[in-house]
Amino acid sequence: MKSARRDVSSAAPLRHVYVHYPFCAHKCPYCDFNSHARRERDTDAYIDALIAEARAWQGLVEADTIFVGGGTPTHATPKQLERYLAGVLDALAPRDGAEITVEANPGSVDEEKADVLRRVGVGRVSLGAQSFHEHHLQALGRIHDADDTSRSVEVLRAGGIERISLDLILAVPHQTLDEQAADVERVLRLQPEHVSAYVLTYEEGTLFTRRMRQGRLPSPCPERELEHLHLVRDALSAAGLVRYEISNFARPGAESRHNLAYWRNADWLGLGAGAHSHVRGRRWKNVDDPAAYAQGIAETSDAPAWHEEVSSPWQLFESLMMGLRLVEGVDLDALHQRYGIDARDAHAAALVRHEAAGFLEHDGARLRLTAEGLDVANAVIGDFVPDVPAPETTAT
Ligand code: SF4
Repeated sequence: MKSARRDVSSAAPLRHVYVHYPFCAHKCPYCDFNSHARRERDTDAYIDALIAEARAWQGLVEADTIFVGGGTPTHATPKQLERYLAGVLDALAPRDGAEITVEANPGSVDEEKADVLRRVGVGRVSLGAQSFHEHHLQALGRIHDADDTSRSVEVLRAGGIERISLDLILAVPHQTLDEQAADVERVLRLQPEHVSAYVLTYEEGTLFTRRMRQGRLPSPCPERELEHLHLVRDALSAAGLVRYEISNFARPGAESRHNLAYWRNADWLGLGAGAHSHVRGRRWKNVDDPAAYAQGIAETSDAPAWHEEVSSPWQLFESLMMGLRLVEGVDLDALHQRYGIDARDAHAAALVRHEAAGFLEHDGARLRLTAEGLDVANAVIGDFVPDVPAPETTAT
């Protein structure tokens, strides 16, 4: 994607970077991420490629936020972890005070890795706790137990990681509300600065979805999912973790700046296998397979699978789709200025309808979902789909 680098070379530096580390110890049956188990033989070539791709963007990025996700970024050995994080971060020139996050799984961090994280400048770790009940962790195919989560938090805190986010999966099959409440209690005992609480979704192509279609797992039940989400929302709020996005809660000032950039539809660069980038209306994705990605980068310093140009109506839609997930909502004047389309004209009927139903509210130019609206966000947002052809993807 040399042209993408050329396109941004004369513009302001990119501020937000996602880095993908696609390897895991084990593939979880509900997971549709680009993650691969038992691919240790590919790791070193992959790390070489990741550093090379970051260096190819050197000078075009001055990062305010960097998010290293996966996969399991801490599945690497301490040496590999240090090599790829130091190499990538050096090329991305994080600015003073940059938020640098690494995802980890309980059991995949020890003192040595925590020390590596702190030394290379990581200040935030997002830990996939998911549940504190052994039978649910087993059903989810997770290979850690609840004590691993507590130990990992201790190790990370002792190693100097200042901000910890814990992930929970809600409304797991057969999970009771009492179990959900106990999970939140365990989370709060660990005093995280941030919690992400997503309802389990059945994604296409996963083992969970196959089992659900065979009747071996219960079908999704929106009412039950909302009960679990409300319970978690209320317990976290009572403990001072403020809901700032449908599924995300933080101590004031500890919101994920990187994810806020996504929800505010900022430009971002994605590095690594399967990573998406979105820069000034152009979107592209790298090839998914880690070995094919490494080969592409080694041969041509690029590994794109496809790219597309996103028209203004679709950029406006994406800004509404992402921004309305935030409790702060969106600034319609700012979107009008950015895309040359006023949502108040383009979507007048839908806005009136959802305001009358109590799902949307205005405060000057700011539009946001009400508490009731957040419960039906997808249905409301679906009414803002533009009446023009969707972006056309071109294979590269
Ligand atoms: S550890 Fe995370 S990324 Fe890896 S397979 Fe499980 S859910 Fe997917």
